[in-house]
Amino acid sequence: MSARPCTLLVVEEADSNQAELTRALEPGERVLRRIPPGPEVMRLAAEVDLVLFHAPGCPSTMRPLVDRLLPQVEGGPSTPVLVVARRECMRPWLEVLRRGAEVVFDPYDGDELSARVDRLLDAQARLKRLAGQVGELQRLSSTDGLTGVHNHRHFQERLRDEFRRAQRYDDPLSLILLDLDHFKQVNDRYGHTAGDGVLREVAAALQRGVRETDLVARYGGEEFAVLLPRTHLTGALTVAERVRRELALLEVGPDGRLKVTASLGVSSFPHRTVLSPEQLLLTADEALYRAKADGRDRISLHTPLTLFPPPGPRDE
Ligand code: GH3
Ligand code: MG
Ligand code: MG
Repeated sequence: MSARPCTLLVVEEADSNQAELTRALEPGERVLRRIPPGPEVMRLAAEVDLVLFHAPGCPSTMRPLVDRLLPQVEGGPSTPVLVVARRECMRPWLEVLRRGAEVVFDPYDGDELSARVDRLLDAQARLKRLAGQVGELQRLSSTDGLTGVHNHRHFQERLRDEFRRAQRYDDPLSLILLDLDHFKQVNDRYGHTAGDGVLREVAAALQRGVRETDLVARYGGEEFAVLLPRTHLTGALTVAERVRRELALLEVGPDGRLKVTASLGVSSFPHRTVLSPEQLLLTADEALYRAKADGRDRISLHTPLTLFPPPGPRDE
């Protein structure tokens, strides 16, 4: 038996046979917290390792409480539930058994009850470990291994989600694409490992420079994307200028004296030529290309819409 420090919430009527349960459950380092059935159970269930209902009634008034504690379909690991019920009232408890609770019928064997408690606790511990591993895998699958910011795949997913949200709620959405200037020279001069270090420092500076609700991602190579939900073009321009200035002030590289600059392209929704996430990306990329062509270390905006086109031959 794996008796380890754990707390069991025992829900029981005042007149139930407490001594017998105590004998069966308390050996080792288990702590029993006993309470009568009532709304308190829901709150305390979240603080303990297992909830045991001692339900001698037939039908039992405890059934609604048990139902509320049973795992929801999409929920994560919830506190395990064990019911001790009378065998003559087996029927209603079979449904509870099917839905994931353990049910032991009275008269029960103390050792068996104790073993079932241990089994539930072990299964719960395994579930928690698994949930932690799944969370960690999810984090890794959306993170860029070199810089620690989000990766390209995650960026694409969020771009689509945020674009849909912006369209539905009539919210603005902006995108900054950033490409380090002459980065090849950094590698050529200092080596690839030093170049990697510079990319990490740039990513950290980007992350520091934006709000938590903004998304920083490594788009590829020495290119980064910053997605700014609920932000108009003017707001995005302010962020882009702050980022550009902060990067230019950074001193990076192996000797901490290397300077880097970046070119940035900014595009926003709503705009008549930005009707899809792809177009937001494309227009930011075009703007970035112009920033490079215009001399680097600068920001270029997606061309503002010409509201009144120049007069055509028919208007003259
Ligand atoms: P430009 O100003 O036109 O952007 O010049 P550039 O040298 O930055 O552009 P180019 O596209 O010619 O080269 C990009 C360089 O970025 C080449 C490559 O060595 C470097 N790079 C891309 N990914 C990585 C990486 O993961 N680590 C390192 N160290 N360098 C990378
Ligand atoms: Mg590039
Ligand atoms: Mg570059």
